[in-house]
Amino acid sequence: MSKFVFITGGVVSSLGKGLTSASIGLLLRSRGLSVEMLKMDPYLNVDPGTMNPFQHGEVYVTDDGAETDLDLGHYERFVGRDMHQKNNITSGAVYLSVIQKERHGDFDGATVQVVPHITNAIKQSWLKLEHPDIDVIMIELGGTVGDIEGLPFLEAMRQFQLERPQEDVAFIHMTLIPYLRASGEVKTKPTQHSVQKLREIGIQPDILVCRTTQEILEEHRRKIALFCNVRPENVIEEQDVEFSIYQVPVMLMHERMDEILTKRLGMALPPIDLTRWNDMLEKVRNPQGTVKIAVVGKYISLTDSYKSIYEALTHAGIASHVKVDFLRVESEEIEEHGAEAVLQGVQGILVPGGFGNRGIEGKIAAIRYAREKKIPFLGICLGLQCAVVEFARNVCGMSDAMSMEWMEPGEEDLDKAVIALMDSQQNVVERGGTMRLGAYACWLHEGTKAREAYGVEMIRERHRHRYEVNPRFVETLRRGGLVISGNNPDSELVEIVELPDAVHPWFVATQAHPEFRSRPVEAHPLFRDFVAAACRLPMDTNP
Ligand code: GLN
Repeated sequence: MSKFVFITGGVVSSLGKGLTSASIGLLLRSRGLSVEMLKMDPYLNVDPGTMNPFQHGEVYVTDDGAETDLDLGHYERFVGRDMHQKNNITSGAVYLSVIQKERHGDFDGATVQVVPHITNAIKQSWLKLEHPDIDVIMIELGGTVGDIEGLPFLEAMRQFQLERPQEDVAFIHMTLIPYLRASGEVKTKPTQHSVQKLREIGIQPDILVCRTTQEILEEHRRKIALFCNVRPENVIEEQDVEFSIYQVPVMLMHERMDEILTKRLGMALPPIDLTRWNDMLEKVRNPQGTVKIAVVGKYISLTDSYKSIYEALTHAGIASHVKVDFLRVESEEIEEHGAEAVLQGVQGILVPGGFGNRGIEGKIAAIRYAREKKIPFLGICLGLQCAVVEFARNVCGMSDAMSMEWMEPGEEDLDKAVIALMDSQQNVVERGGTMRLGAYACWLHEGTKAREAYGVEMIRERHRHRYEVNPRFVETLRRGGLVISGNNPDSELVEIVELPDAVHPWFVATQAHPEFRSRPVEAHPLFRDFVAAACRLPMDTNP
């Protein structure tokens, strides 16, 4: 039977619960244990797919096409295990399933209630993850203890601990220990209150993870332990990291987190092998230089909106043994000041995914600048669509080329739509279309940079888009000199485009989201080669 570990948070949000859960997952996995993860989000959206990135940060897409919370990205990057739909639930999804059953008459006339119907549905989602091969299931609850929306999840946890042997369920609570500069002291009271709140619900945490900027002295540890009813050694300090989030697992290991947790769960403690992780950290600690990469997007002010993009670039930097210096550019800034003024001196330009038409012209100008000044370029999803439009306009002479997504509803002009909405039969349609979600295969053509990067003929990458390169214009683009480096083997849809060596050192754009597959110990091939090409371009020498 699998063991269950619940992770809750208190005092404030954004404590890094996702990172901590992922780090514990990595430690257990590095001890040879198999770990499954679940993120529970208390909001009422059925999934984050419909949420604005400013509200929620990036939507993380899995192979099976689930649109999920960005914490699943941390889980995949740290634990090294692919996540799926079953690894993320929301209150919305839970309520929807219960209400659908009610409408279907599945409850035999009973009054349908939060307890037991909602709490049972929550528990069902945990049991779905149970498997004889899984040693530990880590379940993280989003939000903060005390939130109204989180209560059914906490109540389900309370019930669950009584349904299982004591050794099979553990609770980790994460809090903040603030430091008051004026008086020079750390304060434990918010943590005490947060634990009290949990205990009122009937949950006694076994381990406290205390986020802090200062070292927690022994006296404070004892005080926290005493007032929160935990063992002093189970008060774990998690200080702010010095140089990388990838230090968190190592910090937690020094605090004996994995040892304490496995002991609490009555498990043996197999030896740990963190060699690859530590080698990677060593490179992060001692970079041999820096590389300046511009990310030109439209949700730039919130770094979480492009979380996996920044992570994948960081991994690529690690592979080239350099630190990536990000220039985060709001594409509207380029519309206002011109590409040259904003982008001068960068060694690589990346245009990430996005929806709608705000800032589009700035992205297209950035791509034109990258193409003409021979600055390495990587386009992701909308980034590919903008690159194709730019090429059609400025190389193929289609000066009014557009994506249908940017045309006024009712005024779509299919003669201009190099990027078009398609139905599932690959026919251009004016409305609707199907969202390509999840992993799709792509056939890579011999002699292309994409093929060289991946090193194989057939790949699978995750998608999340509605629009495609319009097959009607592929020949025009080809004649203009654009190389189609990858196609979907079933539909023939264009997946990857690039420029040949003769005209550009490294210019590749993909319809997929390869950033979701990058790992700190194994950079994604496209990101790796993009950053390597950027490193070859001397800083500040491009015109
Ligand atoms: N908005 C574009 C589409 O729907 C691109 C989506 C994306 O970049 N993920 O096709």
